[in-house]
Amino acid sequence: MTGERAEELHERALAAADADGRLPMPPVDEWETFPFEGELRVRPLEGPVDEERPRLGADGADCRRCALGETDAIWSDERWLLVPLDRPSGLPVVLVLQPRAHHDLDDLPDELARELGPLVQRIERAVRSVGEIGRVHVCRWGDGSEHLHFWFMARPSRLPQVVGSFAAIWDDILPPLPEERWRENLAAVAAALR
Ligand SMILES: [Zn+2]
Repeated sequence: MTGERAEELHERALAAADADGRLPMPPVDEWETFPFEGELRVRPLEGPVDEERPRLGADGADCRRCALGETDAIWSDERWLLVPLDRPSGLPVVLVLQPRAHHDLDDLPDELARELGPLVQRIERAVRSVGEIGRVHVCRWGDGSEHLHFWFMARPSRLPQVVGSFAAIWDDILPPLPEERWRENLAAVAAALR
């Protein structure tokens, strides 16, 4: 095990920080895609905790996805669900792909793991079929819910500032899609998957 302990990392960070424990700002404000301007500073890095906070639905207990089942899915099959957010947001399409059964990535059964590659490709194509999509970002963050979920975040085309990883932040900044267009986009994805 070669992983650096949180205490070591924290100490190393403090050694590089100013008297308030603030690390220098990286040059992100020079990036065209960085959504903010003005004077910014890095938050002081707080020390480690003893244990990781449990994930939502850890070990399948009180899991929101397991409780919801397919009720909010725009597409599903016997093993997978494709679910939108519960309301429009800034990006034209944001969807979450989840197995029906409660698995994390490392305990995903082989059969589902084999289906995942082709399914990701199929969903990516379906999202692009909405039109005016510059790119579909496929992301797996796993710090919220334990129930495996892959994000499909479509960014609008021809807005150079909205490319790349800050698209996830622009999703919160851009005005939410009008409800009707949001529903049309989701229906178009669902139709392309049928
Ligand atoms: Zn679950």
